[in-house]
Amino acid sequence: MNELNEETRCEIVKSIKAEYDARAAFGLGKYGITLSEHYADIFKRLQHLKEELMDATLYIEWTMIKMSDQETEKQKLISDIETIQFELSSVCQEVEPCVNVVSKIETTCGNCENPIGNNFKFCPHCGCKIKYE
Ligand SMILES: [Zn+2]
Repeated sequence: MNELNEETRCEIVKSIKAEYDARAAFGLGKYGITLSEHYADIFKRLQHLKEELMDATLYIEWTMIKMSDQETEKQKLISDIETIQFELSSVCQEVEPCVNVVSKIETTCGNCENPIGNNFKFCPHCGCKIKYE
């Protein structure tokens, strides 16, 4: 069994092989010859490689700037959320005493002053009709 000739199970390797095939087909269509048929001396080959590496550094820089912009945007969103949380907290502190007052009115029988459930029409302790103001 020759393992080198076996089809890989790795989807990443399969994907990149497909891209090599597509680039080879594109190059053959564009230049009419394969890379192995193309003559270039060692300096021309190194010049091609240098230019490809220069392009690679541009792609790295482009991606890093994009990531940096996204991180800045993310930090701005986090800051906005923290501001909203703080403002909501302030509103809750202002509203809480009012809620407590309303809650007290609604949960105490005006006749026997025993606690009752919200929206009860009659007191379960004394049977008195509950009046809501
Ligand atoms: Zn009562």
